[in-house]
Amino acid sequence: MVIMAPKKELLNSLKCPICGGQIDIAPIGGSNYGCFNDPYHYNLNIETGSVAIFSFLTQERITLYDSKYRYDIVRIHGDNIKTKIEMFDIDGEGRVIFSFIDKFVEIDGDAFDFKNFDSDKALKRIKMILLFQ
Ligand SMILES: [Zn+2]
Repeated sequence: MVIMAPKKELLNSLKCPICGGQIDIAPIGGSNYGCFNDPYHYNLNIETGSVAIFSFLTQERITLYDSKYRYDIVRIHGDNIKTKIEMFDIDGEGRVIFSFIDKFVEIDGDAFDFKNFDSDKALKRIKMILLFQ
């Protein structure tokens, strides 16, 4: 299901799942909006359709870390929502060591609740999903 709304309304309906921050323009990594406090918490891509008053989300990404890895949860909007989990090796300062994805899982459906997001629970869940991959 694609959620369509005037852009301002759409932006006001979203907040950063990590810190609760407002969403603002943040052109990073294929996204055009992101968390005002840190777009690497949460970033998303919003497109405006041919009826210009309506905008819709195409992709949302939450980034989480533990001591060894970076995990991205990517929610892809379309006729059906898909969830991707991407895992990257990081160095001691949290930077991605190699730009290629270390592990990757794609799930049909909305696998994480972005509205009531709990980082610790999500990390545990990601590790379980990756373990059985
Ligand atoms: Zn944030």
